[in-house]
Amino acid sequence: MHKGFILWFTGLSGAGKSTISERLLAEFRSRGYKTELLDGDVVRTHLSKGLGFSKEDRDTNIRRIGFVADLLARNGVIAITAAISPYREIRDEIRRQTDEFVEVYCECPIEVLAERDVKGLYKKALAGEIQNFTGISDPYEPPENPEVVVRTDRETVEESTQKILEYLASRGLIDGRQPA
Ligand code: ADP
Repeated sequence: MHKGFILWFTGLSGAGKSTISERLLAEFRSRGYKTELLDGDVVRTHLSKGLGFSKEDRDTNIRRIGFVADLLARNGVIAITAAISPYREIRDEIRRQTDEFVEVYCECPIEVLAERDVKGLYKKALAGEIQNFTGISDPYEPPENPEVVVRTDRETVEESTQKILEYLASRGLIDGRQPA
């Protein structure tokens, strides 16, 4: 019914990684697929507890997520990851280490994210109250050739989700039937 692969979300805070990945997780589970979600915020509370936001700690966090996701994928699981993963080099390192890697870039202009301010972090970051905030006071390197780009300021959650499902079906990673 499906292959094991990593579905790797990347994008700024509030761009929609968690929202879309949870929507896909529910869709895959309803189809009876084997799937797990490694959400960046959740991983930081256990697997990466104690790590901060320096480049070194961010890289360690992302490598850990990549390591676990690869273990899952090679055992036939759809491993979804939803972490900012700001550095291209580390994402590409994980891409090289795994068989099937699908990178989804959640793209959204920073002005819209600051307006959305889902977690109230942009206001604080813009006021200088949070150091090393990705997109404001820390780098974000967008992917150069992501398999899928979702423009979350122009698409609904449903449209973005369908775009990803269609891509996965076109690659033969999941079957092509329409969701119930
Ligand atoms: P992230 O996980 O990237 O930090 P979240 O998923 O927590 O981002 O927040 C994204 C916000 O943007 C949510 O409030 C969501 O409802 C909204 N949103 C609007 N359009 C979209 C879309 N097409 N895809 C995902 N989220 C969207």
